[in-house]
Amino acid sequence: MSVLVYTENWDGKFKNLSFELVSYAAKVAEKLGGSVTAISIGKVDDAELGKLGNYGASTVLAVDDEMTAGLDNQLYTGIIAAAAEKTAARALVLAHNNTGKALAPRLSVRLKAGLASGVSSLPESVDPIIVSKKVFSGKAFSRVRINSDKAILTLAQNSFEIIETGGSAKVEAFDSGLSDTAVQTSIKDVQKQTGKILLTDAETVVSGGRGMKSGDNWQPLEELADVLDAALACSRPVSDEGWRPHDEHTGQTGKIIAPNLYLAFGISGAIQHLAGISSSKVIVAVNTDKDAPIFEAADYGIIGDAAKVLPELINEIKTAKAQ
Ligand code: FAD
Repeated sequence: MSVLVYTENWDGKFKNLSFELVSYAAKVAEKLGGSVTAISIGKVDDAELGKLGNYGASTVLAVDDEMTAGLDNQLYTGIIAAAAEKTAARALVLAHNNTGKALAPRLSVRLKAGLASGVSSLPESVDPIIVSKKVFSGKAFSRVRINSDKAILTLAQNSFEIIETGGSAKVEAFDSGLSDTAVQTSIKDVQKQTGKILLTDAETVVSGGRGMKSGDNWQPLEELADVLDAALACSRPVSDEGWRPHDEHTGQTGKIIAPNLYLAFGISGAIQHLAGISSSKVIVAVNTDKDAPIFEAADYGIIGDAAKVLPELINEIKTAKAQ
């Protein structure tokens, strides 16, 4: 019984998200007693495609066609559905990100497959598939039972460990049989961010909340992120106010991250914020209010004014790095 996993790439490279998905798919396949096929769409070279073998894929289907450059969801749905049929996939795994959220429901209709979205653990049973997901901002779990023969699972980001197997994958070109008449929409203009560390992949994250008082006060956070090779994040009110871009907001309605180190400045620690950061290995919080809920989630806390703590912290880290 095969498991098909859709692995996204960024400018021809896979990120931790892709490796996490393949690791998860491999464990689902183990439970089903089958193998994992990964499908990749877009320009990715064979060496990069082959890396997926190290996380448990035995075959990688590569689709590298000009018509896929427009990132058309209908077209991608058609290609992934064709791959699911070719491999007789019993389960399909995608990320629970914007792409996965656009593709999974379409695939569910196309393949008549039950969909469990945002799952955070392996299925507890596979006949039928029963799998759990976090609900109510992570305060409770919901168990989802899929009654159809085929199942689609979208995995909440950073909820499963990346497992290197040392294996290798056979890379094959895949022809979905679709022509460019299947393309319904095309993207006219793409503006890419450059030089930024991808928040969901970052090992260290520096984050600011409403306690920073204004978007004009972000310079020390940017400097700290620079010194630590960290990505920047923020709470939702900060992005709602327009102080920072929305793609930096973490939490229930934002990105879910699990860095090694999360540094929170002027963030109260509302449950909706914690839903996005509570899997961080070490949380450090700086807040003027000793009773702020963030201190309950934090491993280390500093009761103090972020405006005063930040320059001292930056100086100390610079001094330590220079030694
Ligand atoms: P505040 O709660 O205003 O906290 C500011 C903190 O800064 C306070 O603890 C204060 O003591 C401290 N402070 C003040 N001055 C200083 C200083 N000089 N130095 C240091 N500390 C200082 N929020 C998210 O973040 N992500 C989400 O995904 C999200 N989703 C939501 C979904 C729903 C359905 C709802 C209802 C809410 C959601 N929220 C989300 C909002 C959430 O409930 C909180 O309102 C929000 O997280 C608070 O942001 P904050 O901590 O930056 O601001």
